[in-house]
Amino acid sequence: MNELESQLHYPFGDTLPAAGKTIEVAPGVRWLRMALPFALDHINLWLLRDAVDGEDGAIEGWTIVDCGIANDATRAAWEQVFANELGGLPVLRVVVTHMHPDHVGLAHWLTERFGVRLWISATDFNAARQASASTTGFGGEATARFVASHGLTDPDSQEKIKGRRNYYASMVPQVPASFRRMMDGDRLTIGGREWICHAGYGHAPEHIALHCPSLGTLISGDMVLPRISTNVSVHDVEPESNPLQLYLDSLRRMQALPEDTLVLPSHGRPFTGLHTRIEQLIAHHDARFGEVIHACEEAPQCAAGLLPVLFKRPLDLHQTTFAIGESIAHLHALWFAGRLRRERDAGGIWRFSLPPTGG
Ligand SMILES: [Zn+2]
Repeated sequence: MNELESQLHYPFGDTLPAAGKTIEVAPGVRWLRMALPFALDHINLWLLRDAVDGEDGAIEGWTIVDCGIANDATRAAWEQVFANELGGLPVLRVVVTHMHPDHVGLAHWLTERFGVRLWISATDFNAARQASASTTGFGGEATARFVASHGLTDPDSQEKIKGRRNYYASMVPQVPASFRRMMDGDRLTIGGREWICHAGYGHAPEHIALHCPSLGTLISGDMVLPRISTNVSVHDVEPESNPLQLYLDSLRRMQALPEDTLVLPSHGRPFTGLHTRIEQLIAHHDARFGEVIHACEEAPQCAAGLLPVLFKRPLDLHQTTFAIGESIAHLHALWFAGRLRRERDAGGIWRFSLPPTGG
């Protein structure tokens, strides 16, 4: 456990749910984990005890929050959950926090199987439908051109990024054709308790976290994670975006929730210390801003050139594509705030520098 992490409290210690098993973390709230084939090797999903009105009175069952990616291992783990962890009750709805593959991947399979509705923000529903059906934004020529304009021009990376066309669809082969919209401030009644939707920006188009005041519990999705910082990237589909400012603003809004909230994150372990963690994340990005400004004082910088400044460890290609998006996000936040300006150099690469002082 690192020093920052030791400032948080983990009420379940080192206990983790075994594959295909669940642990109750609050009344009617169960935690399960699915394996992921990445450096980030797992995702947490949640089962909420629920009931809906049927023809002959209430139908008891479960609401699923987030799904895992579409592969055989995840489907097999779900089969174990259905057989052993639901008390013989059906799934009543599928809630998805945002459109990333580890969250929405199996939504189609789950909703079809139980004949139930997908609940998601409209923005993420449409982004998921588009990403699953096209190559935009997750590899291919457009991404290769975009990262080249930020200095990632070496032939090996360029070749690999151009070749990676079906990245999203390989993990999200289908998205349901219809959905139920969740918006900021919406109240979902789940198992007789109210869960309030909190929209967050910067990590995904419109991420929905769910807060249950009566349980003092927040399903934070990827917006607040205990050990790693949330990926916040500029992508080729929206090349002039400022997602890091959106993310930091969203974090500050979450500070209105009580400090003793039990946070259920998508990666890592449930924890308390929400305000502490938000302060840590804001401080983390402030420190990165300082490093970027310092580097730009020396000479104009491009996003690729800043990778060794922002990331102290060696990066493989998968990590580099995430990292370059994050590097651009830091540069853009400073550019939008007027602390940096950008110019295209003779080679077509965006270079960021300090604006001239005085007059
Ligand atoms: Zn995500």
